[in-house]
Amino acid sequence: MSAADPTTRPTDASAALFERAHTVTPGGVNSPVRAFNAVGGTPRFIERAQGPYLYDVDGNEYVDLVASWGPMLLGHAHPRVVEAARDAVARGTSYGTPTRPEVELAEAIVGRTPVDKVRLVSSGTEATMSAIRLARGFTGREVVVKFAGCYHGHVDSLLAQAGSGLATHAVPGTPGVPEASTAATVVLPYNDPAAVDAVFAERGSEIACVITEAAAGNMGVVPPAPGYNRLLAETCARHGALFVSDEVMTGFRVSRSGQWGLDGAVEGWTPDLMTFGKVMGGGFPAAAFGGRADVMAMLSPEGPVYQAGTLSGNPVATTAGLTTLELATDEVYAHLDKSARLLSEAASAALTEAGVPHVVQHAGSMFSVFFTDPGVTEVLDFAGASAQRLDRFRAFFHAMLDRGVYLPPSAFEAWFLSAAHDDRALDRVVDALPHAARAAADVPEAG
Ligand SMILES: *Cc1c(COP(=O)(O)O)cnc(C)c1O
Repeated sequence: MSAADPTTRPTDASAALFERAHTVTPGGVNSPVRAFNAVGGTPRFIERAQGPYLYDVDGNEYVDLVASWGPMLLGHAHPRVVEAARDAVARGTSYGTPTRPEVELAEAIVGRTPVDKVRLVSSGTEATMSAIRLARGFTGREVVVKFAGCYHGHVDSLLAQAGSGLATHAVPGTPGVPEASTAATVVLPYNDPAAVDAVFAERGSEIACVITEAAAGNMGVVPPAPGYNRLLAETCARHGALFVSDEVMTGFRVSRSGQWGLDGAVEGWTPDLMTFGKVMGGGFPAAAFGGRADVMAMLSPEGPVYQAGTLSGNPVATTAGLTTLELATDEVYAHLDKSARLLSEAASAALTEAGVPHVVQHAGSMFSVFFTDPGVTEVLDFAGASAQRLDRFRAFFHAMLDRGVYLPPSAFEAWFLSAAHDDRALDRVVDALPHAARAAADVPEAG
C-alpha cells in the first residue's frame, strides 16, 4: 500500500445509529439487504444525496451505484424533481380524491408502453400482487407460473420455491407463508423453454398467468435468451393464460419503454399485463400495473376484481414520477448506455488483469458482475447465479467502499447508473476498480 492509498473510512456515526436502530427495528433496517448481512461491516446511514453522490452521517462521500435500487434514474435531488415535489407538498400531500397528476402520469405510462390502461399503487409488491389477482379474476384460473431467481416483491404466493417435480406446486420460500398460498404457484428455472412447454402441456388449462421479470435483475442481471419472452407471450396466448411482464426494475430504465422497448416492440408482441415501480415514482412510493383494456376492465370499480389504496396515486409521488419521466429523454438513455458500457468494460478489464474469473452481463444499461468459477462464460438462471464466489464479492465490495464507491451490498444485484454520473464520478469508479479486483484476487481459494 502506498501512502496515497485511502485508509478505511470512519463509520462511528453510522455504527452508533445502527446500534440504536437494532433496539427498535428488527436487524436495524427497514428492508433486509440494507443491513450488509451479505458483505459484513457497518451499513452506511445516508443523510444526504446529490447527483451521483451519497453522503453518510460520518461525512463520507460515495459514488452511488445503487440509485435507491433503481429509482433514481436522473440522479439524486434533481433540481426540477425537487422543485415539482416541493410545490406539490405545499398544495397538500394527500386528498383521497382523484387528481390531475395521476391522469398525467397514467398518460405518460400508456404513452411509453403497450398498456392500454394503468392502475396506480404505492409499491412494486402491490403492483405484482394486484396483477396476479386480476389475472386470476380474468381467467377464472388459479395457477401462477414464476421463475426461480425472479423477484416480484414480497407477495405470499410469489415467495415460493420449486417443489419436488417440475409441474408440481411450489413450497413456501419463507416461514409465515401458508402452504395454501403457494399451492397454486409453479416455479420453473429461468430461460428454459422446455420447462415452460412441459408445464403448459400438463397443466395449461389451469394456468392463470406466467409472471417474469422482463429481464431478470434480482439474481444479478440475467437477460432473457433471444426470443424467450416472446415464447412466454405466445405460449400464454395459446393456452388462454395471461403473460405478466414485471418491469418494476427495468421499466423506464433500460429504455424509454423499458425492456419491452428492447424486445417486444422490436419483435411485435405485447404482454397482457405489466407492472411498474421504481423509476416511475421519482424516488417516492409510486408503482403501477396495467395492460389490455379488456383485462383492466375487470378491475373495481369498473369490474368485480377488488383493489384499492389510501395513498394510491398520491399527488406528491405522482408529480415527482411524472417530472422524472418527462426528463427521461433519449439523451438520458444514451448517456446511461454509454456509461454502463464504460464501467462494465472497466470492471471486466480490472478483474481480468487481476486474474479473477468473472462474467459481466447486461440488460440495457443495467449490468452486474458475477464472481464465477473459472471457465464459466454465461449465467442463464438462478442455479448459475448462485454458483458464485461470494467471498470474492465481499472483498471487492469493501475495497470499492473504502475508495468511495457504493456498490449494491449483495452479489445478486444490478449496478445502477443515473444521468447524473458524469466523468468525475465515473472516473472515481474506474480508478477504484483495479484495487478492488486485486482484493478479490487476494481471497484464498476455497478449501
Ligand atoms: C423491486 C422490485 C419489486 C418490488 O417492488 P417494491 O417497491 O420493493 O415492493 C417487484 N418486482 C421487481 C422486478 C423488482 O425489482
